[in-house]
Amino acid sequence: MQVRRDVRLAELTTLRVGGPVERLVEVTDAEELVAAVREADEAGRPLLVLGGGSNIVAPDDGWPGDVVAVRSRGIDRDGSQLVVAAGHDWDELVAYTVAHDLAGVEALSGIPGSTGATPVQNVGAYGQEVAQTITAVRVYDRAEKSERTLSPQECGFAYRDSRLKRNPSRFVVLDVTFVLDESPLSRPVGYAELARTLGVELGESAPLADVREAVIALRRGKGMVLDADDPDSRSAGSFFTNPIVPSERAVAGCPSWPAGDGQVKLSAAWLVQHAGFGRGTRQGNVGTSSRHSLALTTAPGATAAELLDFAGRIVATVQGEFGVTLEREPTAVRP
Ligand SMILES: Cc1cc2nc3c(=O)[nH]c(=O)nc-3n(C[C@H](O)[C@H](O)[C@H](O)COP(=O)(O)OP(=O)(O)OC[C@H]3O[C@@H](n4cnc5c(N)ncnc54)[C@H](O)[C@@H]3O)c2cc1C
Repeated sequence: MQVRRDVRLAELTTLRVGGPVERLVEVTDAEELVAAVREADEAGRPLLVLGGGSNIVAPDDGWPGDVVAVRSRGIDRDGSQLVVAAGHDWDELVAYTVAHDLAGVEALSGIPGSTGATPVQNVGAYGQEVAQTITAVRVYDRAEKSERTLSPQECGFAYRDSRLKRNPSRFVVLDVTFVLDESPLSRPVGYAELARTLGVELGESAPLADVREAVIALRRGKGMVLDADDPDSRSAGSFFTNPIVPSERAVAGCPSWPAGDGQVKLSAAWLVQHAGFGRGTRQGNVGTSSRHSLALTTAPGATAAELLDFAGRIVATVQGEFGVTLEREPTAVRP
């Protein structure tokens, strides 16, 4: 376990905002992770558990306590089941599954961050989400001060949400179990743009490697793959989730998808764009990506306050124009 005191949150997060960290504790296995969390809790120091920092807006004032950076690694395979350490890089895991003919997460290629963070917001893209393949999440429960294993039902997965996200200071993910299909072919392709790119019909399969390549190319075209040379990837991915509203409140002209129970999911990108915040809209050091109106990006010198102010303007304008409330996807963490 290594402790450092010379780090700013801006260096640990993909939006590159956030002030100094009082103590950065880097842990390399589950035992160290539990020990670091227990130590912070017993000392009463504010605790932030951090993976790749790709889904948080970090405070400008920094963190007056412990930031525990999860750097554990490892994939333990037993047939179609993989138990993966929380700190394992997510995209490395996806590459491993594709190389070993394991289907189920191929459409989630190119998403930054750690495996342990994927159940937190039920990471999803291009027609797949991790709730479809996760069978167990081993956690340290800070309320009970003990380790336990959560079933998918106990995780309460929903669209870009879970019980872990709803109780941010309770559960620390130690490892995640996935059960995949032993197949060189993908699960049925569930996203029209991806199906078109692959030249297959919706619901058909394609070779895993082709799906991975197509998804990464589509993502790269939208600035949705982390790349130090791509200013559009200085983001947290999509900044707002697609709002789910009763179908009678669908917005004329806005693309929508059935969301069950008489509800529809509206395109947040369309709402943001049609509220006057199209691609490349700038406000000081922040703005919308030049290739995707849903990704908010920062330029050097940006602050979290500036970013949240801009996001607030978007929310208020969308609310005023369309009567729909946008919800933020990344967590604005606070001590
Ligand atoms: C360019 C780009 C593209 C993206 N595209 C997508 C996408 O297509 N789909 C999607 O769903 N997301 C996307 N994201 C968001 C992000 O990559 C994912 O949410 C990812 O899972 C976050 O992982 P992380 O390790 O970086 O989490 P962090 O940002 O480090 O943490 C996010 C939250 O999870 C908590 N957390 C982290 N690790 C643990 C742990 N071990 N135990 C308990 N809590 C923990 C943190 O406290 C924080 O609240 C994108 C982000 C970027 C920058």
